[in-house]
Amino acid sequence: MIFRQLIDPESFTYTYLLGDEATRRAVLIDPVLEQIERDCALLGELGLRLHCSLETHVHADHITASGRLRERLGAKVGAGARAGVSNADWALADGVTVCVGNVQLEVLATPGHTAGCVTYLCREAGMAFTGDAMLVRGCGRTDFQDGDAGALFRSVRERIFALADATLLYPAHDYSGRTVTSVAEEKRFNPRLHLGKTREEFLAIMTGLRLPPPKRIAVAVPANQVSGLVASASGGCEAAARPVALAIEQRGRQDAELLRGAGI
Ligand code: FE
Repeated sequence: MIFRQLIDPESFTYTYLLGDEATRRAVLIDPVLEQIERDCALLGELGLRLHCSLETHVHADHITASGRLRERLGAKVGAGARAGVSNADWALADGVTVCVGNVQLEVLATPGHTAGCVTYLCREAGMAFTGDAMLVRGCGRTDFQDGDAGALFRSVRERIFALADATLLYPAHDYSGRTVTSVAEEKRFNPRLHLGKTREEFLAIMTGLRLPPPKRIAVAVPANQVSGLVASASGGCEAAARPVALAIEQRGRQDAELLRGAGI
């Protein structure tokens, strides 16, 4: 399998490219609008045809490129069945498998950060793409988009920690340069969710975070509910690049959140 981990340095978002060597089909997990040219160039360089873009959830901190990638490359858009992406081609229910050539991704519903979060498991390669459900030594916040700390505790303990210990976990973000972890590592070292923590302790931690809302949430969530495509004043459809640039200018960085490693 061809595998690349890419980063959007503005939002600290990881995008994952998985490609099948035999059929040259590829999938992008959590593509970022501002990085669409980079990602299309890489696909071309590697001789890959984008089959689909998959969202781990409706993001609050950046806008997805999935809608634009569909327009440009004909790639399908997939998101969790409960994510509320109205123009997705695939509403992916728990247990469904997405096949990209010989690459198989199983969908695990892992709600809690948002109600519609999913994890994509590539069982053969021993890799799982956890979105914000599980970060390296952290987890996504649970105080908006129908977040639910109790649900997140269940998702991590009963779904993610149920995977083989050697499974590599690839998060949607990292704010300190870490790129990957494993089930065994997080069971031991995740300060919020290691096996010694009780549900009550986890709920107390999440309730006590008291984070300011993400500055981009008002722009990003509505855009991502339509795969990053927003209606322009002229009635056409255009990517939300301009409002995003404006939002970045106005918001500054979310350093308070980044320092806490809260995940967004
Ligand atoms: Fe998120």
